[in-house]
Amino acid sequence: MKNYFSEAELSCSCCGAYEFAPEFLYILNVIREECGFPLPVTSGYRCPKHPVEARKRAPGAHSRGLGVDIGVRGERAHRLLEVALAQGVPRIGIQQKGESRFIHLDIDSSLPNPTIWSY
Ligand SMILES: [Zn+2]
Repeated sequence: MKNYFSEAELSCSCCGAYEFAPEFLYILNVIREECGFPLPVTSGYRCPKHPVEARKRAPGAHSRGLGVDIGVRGERAHRLLEVALAQGVPRIGIQQKGESRFIHLDIDSSLPNPTIWSY
């Protein structure tokens, strides 16, 4: 399986730490291959001190390297959802209004699943 994602784009944006889970990276590459178009990562691994994680009651999927935000909209967002669901991704968040649109995918089984939410 080709690796479509760089360590840099999946690293914590606050400190550069890279603790992305290999099993999730594998699934992401399967999804990327199936989609056939770029999946721009807007957030990958986030350390517990990253401002977004620090605001939460407890650090979430991103802090375990099991969550990612993909900056897609419209037709590509629809296709990404279709492929991710077919691959069994159990937790999906949707942010599709305004300027910073993305689809969140995560496989963190320590959190409620299957589920889907909006922001
Ligand atoms: Zn960090």
